Amino acid sequence: MLRVAVVGSGPSGVYTAQSLVEQQAVPDVHVHVLDRLPCPYGLVRYGVAPDHEKIKSLQRNLRTVLEHPRVDFLGHVQIGTGGLGTEQLRDMYHAVVYCVGAATDRRLGIPGEELPGSFSATEFVSWYSAHPDAAVNGFLLGARSAVVIGVGNVAVDVTRILARGADELRPTDVPQAALGVLAESRVREVQMVGRRGPSQAKFTTKELRELGALPGAEVVVDPADLVLDPAFADPSGLPAVNRRNVEVLRGWAGLPPQGRDRRLTLRFFLRPVAVLEAPGGGRVGGVRFERTMPDGHGGVVGTGAFEDIPAELVLRSVGYRGVPLPGLPFDPQRGTVPHTAGRILRDGAPSPGEYVAGWIKRGPTGVIGTNRPCAKETAASLLADADALMRRQVSDDPREALRRLGQDPVDWSGWQAIEAAEVALGHSLGRTTVKIPDWAGLLSAARGGRRT
Ligand code: NAP
Repeated sequence: MLRVAVVGSGPSGVYTAQSLVEQQAVPDVHVHVLDRLPCPYGLVRYGVAPDHEKIKSLQRNLRTVLEHPRVDFLGHVQIGTGGLGTEQLRDMYHAVVYCVGAATDRRLGIPGEELPGSFSATEFVSWYSAHPDAAVNGFLLGARSAVVIGVGNVAVDVTRILARGADELRPTDVPQAALGVLAESRVREVQMVGRRGPSQAKFTTKELRELGALPGAEVVVDPADLVLDPAFADPSGLPAVNRRNVEVLRGWAGLPPQGRDRRLTLRFFLRPVAVLEAPGGGRVGGVRFERTMPDGHGGVVGTGAFEDIPAELVLRSVGYRGVPLPGLPFDPQRGTVPHTAGRILRDGAPSPGEYVAGWIKRGPTGVIGTNRPCAKETAASLLADADALMRRQVSDDPREALRRLGQDPVDWSGWQAIEAAEVALGHSLGRTTVKIPDWAGLLSAARGGRRT
C-alpha cells in the first residue's frame, strides 16, 4: 500500500487525492486528506461568496472524492507552528503533498494601511464566510461609503456583497451575525479602483456582469477613465476575456443615473499612495490616489496628479500571498514552494516524498478548475516515484500516530455532524443552512455536542 498525506482539503488537495486514487498504474494508494480546520473544501467553503451558489455546489464533486473508500478526511490536524512538523509527517506517510494555498493577503505598503476602517478583502471575505479565525466584526460601523482597491474577482465579490440587500443574502449560508450587520448597512456608495486600465483588469466577464444585475444598485463608469486605455478604442487585439470586459464597461459608460439605492463606481488608472485619516482622526477618511497613464508596455506610470476619494471603509483587494510552512523551503519573492513538476526542491534537488500542488505551488491565480491539471501533474510525479517511495518503512496506522502526537482529528462523521448542525441552526432561524462561525461551535458539533 502507498500511503499518502495531502495537507489541505481545498480544491487542489481534493483534486490531488482524486488523481491518486482514480488511476490504475499504482494500485492500492490510500490517501489521508488533512486539514487544520474541522471542515473540508478550503476556499470553496471559506472564499467563494455566499451568493455564488453554483460555484459552491462544486462541494458536491469534492465530497464524492472525500467519500472514496481509499480517501479519509482528517480535520482539525495542525501542521507547522504549534502542530506536527514536516519530518513527523514524512515518518508517517510514504509521501506528503502540501496543498496549503495562499493564506494571507498582499500588502500595499502605503501609509495609513493599518488605520481602523482599512481592512484586507481577505478579512472581510473570512467574516462573511464564517471562517472561525475571522478576527474582525466591526467592518461597517456606520460607514456610508467604501473604496475597494484592486479590480480582480475578489474585489468584485466584496463590492457585490456590500451592494446586496439582506433579502438577497438571507437564502444563502451567510452567518447570522454577518447577515444582521449587512442588513443594517448604511453603505450607499462603493468605488472599485484599478491602478491600470479597463483592458487590464483581472476580473472575469461573468463576475463583472453580475454587478450590473444587482437589483438595488447601479453601476457608474466614467467614459473619461476608459478612453485613456489605448485598447478601449480598439479591443480587437485583446485576449477574449479582456475584450469582453471592455465591451461590458463600454455598455455602462455614460449610462444616465437610474436612481437606485446604491451606487457602484468603477475607476481606472488610479494607484493608491496613502490611506487617509478622517478629520478628527482615528479612522479612515479616504484614499489618496495618483493618476496613472499607460507606459506602452502593459504597465502604467504616475502623472504627478493626485485625487482623494473619500470613504469610511477601505477594503484592500490586491491578491493573496503564500506563507512559509516551517520545515518547507519557500521562495519569498513568489510566495511559493520551489518545485519541479510538483516535486519539492530542497537546495535545488527534488526532496524524496515531498510534493506541492495548488496556489502554494503556482501562486494565487486561476479559477477553481485550474487546480485540476495542476494537481494531476503533481500526482503524476508522485506516482512515477512510487516504487522508490514504497521501499521506506512508514507508520502502519498514521491515525494512531497522529493521536500519539497530540492531534485529535475530526473525521468524516465529525464533519457530517457539523453539516447537520448547520442545517439545524438554519431551521431554527427560519433559514436554510447557516454556517457556524466559531471554533467552539464547530468542534462541539463535530464531537456530537460535547464542548471542547
Ligand atoms: P487578482 O486577480 O490577482 O487581482 C488583484 C488586483 O489587485 C489586480 O487588479 C491588481 O492590479 C491589483 N493590485 C495588486 N497590487 C496592487 C497595488 N500595489 N496597488 C493597487 N492595485 C494592486 O487577485 P484576487 O482578486 O485576489 O483573486 C485571486 C484569484 O482568485 C484570481 O485568480 C481570481 O480570478 C480568483 N477568484 C475567482 C473568483 C470567481 O471565479 N468567481 C472569485 C474570487 C477569486 P494589477 O493587475 O495592476 O497588478
